[in-house]
Amino acid sequence: MPDRPPATLRLRVDEAALKANWKTLDRLSGHAQTGAAVKADAYGLGVEHCVPALREAGARHFFVAHWSEVEPVASLAQGCSIAVLHGPMTAGDVSFAEATGAVPVINSLAQAKLWREQGNGPCHLMVDTGINRLGISMQDIGDPLLQMLEIKVLMSHLASADESSGQNALQLDRFRQASANLPHEALSLCNSAGIAMGEGYHFDLTRPGLSLYGGVPRPELSGHIRQVAFPQASVLQLRQISAGDSVGYNATFTADRAMRVAVISLGYADGFLRTRGPEGALGWEDVALPILGKVSMDMIVVDASNALNLGEGDWLDVPFDLPDNAAKSGLSQYELLTTLGNRFDRSVL
Ligand SMILES: *Cc1c(COP(=O)(O)O)cnc(C)c1O
Repeated sequence: MPDRPPATLRLRVDEAALKANWKTLDRLSGHAQTGAAVKADAYGLGVEHCVPALREAGARHFFVAHWSEVEPVASLAQGCSIAVLHGPMTAGDVSFAEATGAVPVINSLAQAKLWREQGNGPCHLMVDTGINRLGISMQDIGDPLLQMLEIKVLMSHLASADESSGQNALQLDRFRQASANLPHEALSLCNSAGIAMGEGYHFDLTRPGLSLYGGVPRPELSGHIRQVAFPQASVLQLRQISAGDSVGYNATFTADRAMRVAVISLGYADGFLRTRGPEGALGWEDVALPILGKVSMDMIVVDASNALNLGEGDWLDVPFDLPDNAAKSGLSQYELLTTLGNRFDRSVL
């Protein structure tokens, strides 16, 4: 096969902003060390673009969710620790951990037993302090099996760190209780939002993800976190439509005048879900081009009446200020990042 031609979608990862965000979160983490959650292909931005930058910034502890995510990170993060958050489900997972040096996060008594019987090296332990997602239940922390594990990092995960919720203090209290009862070398509780809640939550290691990539889950972080991802989509075609013509699936937009419109290569598979259409616009040299009608599979149509020099093949900016986009679309900042898909040509700059 010849090299494929360039895509009609591109995503610039601002390396300086990514590094600055890690450093900001590291500073806010006080005395704790700062890791980096790079699961889901660095939240959609691409591990090959993010891991080297995070490592250069100073990150040494990386977190992925799946065993399939170990190899791509390991090849970019020699000498660093890679933790697998979902833990081992099979003997195959355990031998993979041993072969790669990836550290399993043990999430249940069943996983603890499996690890003890099949592998039994150092591991991390996740305690569930209230999210009821993964982790050893508080009523099981006294189980003798856990005392036999070689636990490096004892961790828990906050459910509502992005809100001023009473659940945060409750989880903190339970985490302290768990730490008094379980062996560990280090303690880790905070995600990005947790870091902004102050010293009492920091312990020895923090695990930011979202805010590395430009997410602002709490107001305290606003103004300190920079946008990292800059998507652009190109003009596939310019069309002239007449008054009375409709645009897109279900004809939800009808022109009341003759218009120049541009068909853009951007759709559901690129994370541009229908909820981002109404009231939305793309940008071209400081001109906002309003989206017309519904996002229609792989394309959207914008009003190009005010962009007379716009040509086919030109690039439009897709607004990607995460808190702003989340507020307008009803999607979470996590969803906006992780649904970007694999049709963008990604590059670091
Ligand atoms: C995803 C994840 C993180 C990072 O959370 P953010 O909210 O993205 O900062 C930290 N710890 C665990 C266990 C996670 O699953």
